[in-house]
Formats: sequence, structure tokens, C-alpha cells
Amino acid sequence: MKPMAVREIKKYPDPVLLKKTVPVEAVDESICSLIDDMVETMHAAPGVGLAANQVGVPLQVAVIDISGREEGGSRQSLVVLINPEILSREGTVVEEEGCLSLPDFTEKVKRSARVRVRARDRKGNHFEMEADGLMAKALQHEIDHLNGLLFVDRLSPLKKNIFRRKLKKTLAESA
Ligand SMILES: [Zn+2]
Repeated sequence: MKPMAVREIKKYPDPVLLKKTVPVEAVDESICSLIDDMVETMHAAPGVGLAANQVGVPLQVAVIDISGREEGGSRQSLVVLINPEILSREGTVVEEEGCLSLPDFTEKVKRSARVRVRARDRKGNHFEMEADGLMAKALQHEIDHLNGLLFVDRLSPLKKNIFRRKLKKTLAESA
């Protein structure tokens, strides 16, 4: 068996982050080892979620682990999502968000308060889950990634401009 490995996290504006990913046809060994690497990479970052295109793989796979971040401890453990889709949404919340692919930028983002999601797990079985709070936010953030969207795409034109200016400055400084 291949040992788990931390993979490089792609940073905005890498084109792999801006393109819709492709559904997984068969959950085989290569998908399982991708999932293992993504979990390792997410925990090492550390982050609460990671989409496959963030490690350069344009497939509909995402992992989320909010244990320790939500009040009451590890209410939900690791969630693996293959080909996820949002079935329904309820309510609205506006909360601060960040992204491992946009390391120096956080902003308040408008999201649905509660979502119902359908996906396949790492055994290939279909499941549905309902979530609110941080899990609902993470689900929407990661599914956006798989559709080629970053949280900055959800901002108002004014805030998008602020982001663009900050990004330009950051890129200039690192050049
Ligand atoms: Zn992200």
C-alpha cells in the first residue's frame, strides 16, 4: 500500500481552481489513496476542508473535518464526499470565511444556514446528510470549489475589488 502523503496545495489563481471538476466514475484504489492524501494534507495545513482540485486533481472529491472546531467537541468526524450535490437549502447566514488556496484573505460570505447534501462515501455508497453551522458552511465552500468557485466569487463587487487589490499587492511582494 502506498503511504499517505501531504500534497502541495494550489494557490489562487491557479487555473485548476477555476474549472469545474469531473464526477468520479468508480471509487477505486486510486481514489482511496487520493482521499488519504487529501485528509493528510488538510490536517497538516491545518484546515477544516479540502477539495481535490486544491491539490491539482480535477475530480469531484472533497474532505471535511470540523472535529475540535465546533462547540461540544467532535460532533461529526471526518466526512468524505464523492460527487456531492446540494439537494436543498434553508435560511441565510453571513460569516467570516477563509481558504487554504487564498492564504492571506478572509471575508464575510453569505451562505445558506442549512443544507441537505447527497454524495457517495469512500466505499462508493450513496448517502445523504443534513447540516447547519460550520459543517453547512464547509459543505457549501467545498462544493463551490468542485464547481470552480472560490469564496471570493460570492462577494459583492466592492469587496471583490478590495480582494483583487490585496492579491495584486501580495503577488507583487512575493515576486
Ligand atoms: Zn477553500
